[in-house]
Amino acid sequence: MPGAAAPAESGAVTQTEIVPARTDAPPATWLDGGALADGTGRDPVPNPGILAERGRITSIGGSRPADAAVVDCTGLTLMPGLIDAHVHMACAPFDPSLRYDVSVAEIAADMFANCQQTLDGGFTTVRDTGGIDRGLADVVASGKMPGPRILQCGPVHSQTGGGGQMGAEWEPTHLWDQHAIPGLVAWALLSDGPDELRKNVREGFRRGATFVKLLVTGAVVAISTQQPSDTQFTTAEIAVAVEEANAKGTYVTVHAHNNAGIRAAVRAGVRCVEHGSQIDEETAALMSEHGVALVPTLSIMDQLVADPASMGLAPSYATRLSRFAQTGREAVLAARAAGVRVGLGSDLLGPDQRDRARELVHRARLETPMRALESATRINAEIIGAGDDLGTVEIGKIADIVGFAGDPLSDPEQFADRDRVALVVQGGRVVKFIPHS
Ligand SMILES: [Zn+2]
Repeated sequence: MPGAAAPAESGAVTQTEIVPARTDAPPATWLDGGALADGTGRDPVPNPGILAERGRITSIGGSRPADAAVVDCTGLTLMPGLIDAHVHMACAPFDPSLRYDVSVAEIAADMFANCQQTLDGGFTTVRDTGGIDRGLADVVASGKMPGPRILQCGPVHSQTGGGGQMGAEWEPTHLWDQHAIPGLVAWALLSDGPDELRKNVREGFRRGATFVKLLVTGAVVAISTQQPSDTQFTTAEIAVAVEEANAKGTYVTVHAHNNAGIRAAVRAGVRCVEHGSQIDEETAALMSEHGVALVPTLSIMDQLVADPASMGLAPSYATRLSRFAQTGREAVLAARAAGVRVGLGSDLLGPDQRDRARELVHRARLETPMRALESATRINAEIIGAGDDLGTVEIGKIADIVGFAGDPLSDPEQFADRDRVALVVQGGRVVKFIPHS
């Protein structure tokens, strides 16, 4: 299949079982006119003429079948449905929800609104890297609720006092599990020692995880007695998670900021690093050698720098956050230079996640708009194990296509202008269409 455009890059994972095309996909839809940037990195082609049948792309550049529904794409730049490889759809504000100040109804309402907003912004697939229980993914997959296709890990795995434990320092640890809302919100499972972690990874799979996420360094937003400079979990613990993931035919990704934590995880066999905000040349080379991908997350750092209070952080965090924002950009370039497959993730937190596509703008400025688009489509699809089905507009792929009124490849700010997202096709169904001129 396509996706071989960059064979030297590390980090593709074996195929995850993707939610199949919906059975209610229309028989035939013809996208007429516009220009196509297909996600492979090739230059856009004018007036492509794309045919989707029963959810998959069956023809590009052919002629319109007489019985196909026609969508006028004149003036649109068509591209693969965007993929955000690092989201947290359980978007309730952490502090109030941990204090039970927010009703379950409101948390659910925020999550559903977030699903709709994400789809409206052109994202047809997301990988949730912690916070939702399987219920949300299932309800979207069933068609009851509009939203992106969701791959999820359920609860993340953290050591006691690690980056996944978000409660107050004085909250007794044995109360931590009680913040979870079965079927809706899954906070971190805490494990200490290989045996406990093995059991909890298996528990995550029982609850429907399609991959595993561990926190192997401290986090920026978590209890203050841990730091991003901490390493968390031992190599033996990480290796046990890798063993269990392999047994399920899937992979481990790790939240990690500092180099020591990343290197230990890479040597233990993980396939992907989230954030990687301090990756240096040596670590980038190690990742490349071991075939490990990177999903950088620039947006959340900028959001936190601009407004630390939005996530309950003291103003004094701003200096530290600015440093992370800067080194995070340098890490992307170091990883690219070493041949690491670099995806894209927003990591947005909180109930308002409308600005998800801002991540493409950051990346377009750092590299090029085309590279940002490739990261958000083809490369992300490969990282999440969906490269055979998603990520490019090519014959045989699932028909996930977004159309921007204008040309974000010439003016990348347009990626983040939701009013320009005139067309969203998901699994061959038109789920958003705004008449445009
Ligand atoms: Zn995250």
